[in-house]
Amino acid sequence: MKYIGAHVSAGGGVEMAPANALEIGANAFALFTKNQRQWVAKPLSEESIRRFKEACAEDGVCARYILPHDSYLINLGHPEAEALAKSRAAFLDEMQRCELLGLELLNFHPGSHLNKTSVEACLDTIAESINITLDKTAGVMAVIENTAGQGSNVGNEFWHLKHIIDKVEDKSRVGVCLDTCHTYTAGYDIAGEYDKVFAEFDEVVGREYLRAIHLNDSKKPLGSRVDRHESIGKGLIGIDFFQRFMQDERFDDMPVVLETPDDTIWAEEIKLLRSFEK
Ligand SMILES: [Zn+2]
Ligand SMILES: [Zn+2]
Repeated sequence: MKYIGAHVSAGGGVEMAPANALEIGANAFALFTKNQRQWVAKPLSEESIRRFKEACAEDGVCARYILPHDSYLINLGHPEAEALAKSRAAFLDEMQRCELLGLELLNFHPGSHLNKTSVEACLDTIAESINITLDKTAGVMAVIENTAGQGSNVGNEFWHLKHIIDKVEDKSRVGVCLDTCHTYTAGYDIAGEYDKVFAEFDEVVGREYLRAIHLNDSKKPLGSRVDRHESIGKGLIGIDFFQRFMQDERFDDMPVVLETPDDTIWAEEIKLLRSFEK
């Protein structure tokens, strides 16, 4: 079974997100547990935590299908000590917020080398950041998102993900979220060579690490390394890919999250995707 949703608004508090998911017919969702453009947020209140858990239970969406996303400011591979420390502190706070909410996954972009170190050194720093955070928390998995490789972002090639995972001490608490738009613009032709790309993922990273999907079409071409999401079937990946994806059991039982630009058609997009199921 597929668990499909979107990155819904948590405006007014995290406890508002489950209802926003229900409204679009989702049985999975993503959210920010704090303002994604600010470093510091006030702690979650007990009231907020209680109401969030109640709302999830009422909607029947359990923690394994909820994919919180960390702040865009965090760079766990930052080449400078002071900025790295700031990112690590913010990431720890994100993970602790997940713990308090009873969530099991935390999705994040790996980081950027800012043209000051090598890709490998950046990946090593990211792995160290993950190890430090996992040591101080319990029950939440670090879910690394693949990237389009824009600017100096790492995580666009499958071996980057594997390199990080190899250096994470607790393999039971590290996973991968594949974003279909990022995969495509990073140069993996999921539209033209579906089988080949996912076989390569299995071979290089390992299927067992795949924990979540960001399901997006792309405004930008294959290999462009530019990250611009498009609504399902309206971009360069095209509808055939999404049809095939929905019939592929390898993507069952994990959160599949739309981050498509027009939130007024999320309900329609989910319906369309459901219509492709066998
Ligand atoms: Zn994404
Ligand atoms: Zn993106």
